[in-house]
Amino acid sequence: MPELPEVETVRRGLLPAMEGRRIIRAQVNRPDLRWPFPPRMADRLTGARVLTLRRRSKYILADLSTDETLLIHLGMSGRMLISPPPPAGEGQGEGVARLEGVAPERETLGEWHHHHPAPEKHDHVILDMEDGTRITFNDARRFGAMDLMPTATADAHPLLAVLGPEPLGNAFDDAYLTARLKGRNTPIKSALLDQHLVAGLGNIYVCETLYRARIHPARKAARISAARAAALVPLIRDVLAEAITAGGSSLRDYRQADGELGYFQHSFQVYGREGQPCLTPGCTATIRRIVQSGRSSFFCPACQK
Ligand SMILES: [Zn+2]
Repeated sequence: MPELPEVETVRRGLLPAMEGRRIIRAQVNRPDLRWPFPPRMADRLTGARVLTLRRRSKYILADLSTDETLLIHLGMSGRMLISPPPPAGEGQGEGVARLEGVAPERETLGEWHHHHPAPEKHDHVILDMEDGTRITFNDARRFGAMDLMPTATADAHPLLAVLGPEPLGNAFDDAYLTARLKGRNTPIKSALLDQHLVAGLGNIYVCETLYRARIHPARKAARISAARAAALVPLIRDVLAEAITAGGSSLRDYRQADGELGYFQHSFQVYGREGQPCLTPGCTATIRRIVQSGRSSFFCPACQK
């Protein structure tokens, strides 16, 4: 399941293809994913220009020239695929140039759609951009979602209104985190996974953060000293920023491979390493796994207290 860094990597991969560009054709191939698509979604997207492509938590948000915002959620298995425009010199680029600033005409554009591979079974939403790039949302398990809402009230969308501050944003600081952990009788692991407290942190990166902070995942949030709580903030930022950097450096590779964005292998220090030696220098313990609220926590019993 993609976490914040993977979603941010997908956003950065989509940026050059989407931001500032007009959607000249949208195809919606089924009525729903996790939830029904909004009414007339294809019509509402067709002709809209993407003004900004931003991220909130694990959601990608495209603010459109129609004063609507497209919300994209990758869910468990959602993938964004980019199929580049036809190579220059095939004469099709001129057709694109002619369309600049005029109403889209699907018939005119059919000419170069066959450049792209034929849609596959789980290609649920297809966006053809004005330069001939095709963006495909593929989701085999259909836990993903797309929605449209007025840009002016996007923050009030039910999926967004419940979110706490961004872990990489200024509102998430040591004063905030210390105050929110105080008196909280849940394990620190659960507290950090609480999207009301901080948005977009998932299981993998919470495990990694707690390892670096040397805090046991089952420790009660309220029993973490203010100093240790404050120290969590830069560690969370570091863990996420490193993963985003790793994603960015892998971006070119997987775009070259098959146009798919967002999935890449990180090397984790504790996550998925049950039974393997702790990587802290001088530590001879092995990484353990416990289940908390139905999710695996990986930690070093010697380093994390
Ligand atoms: Zn250790």
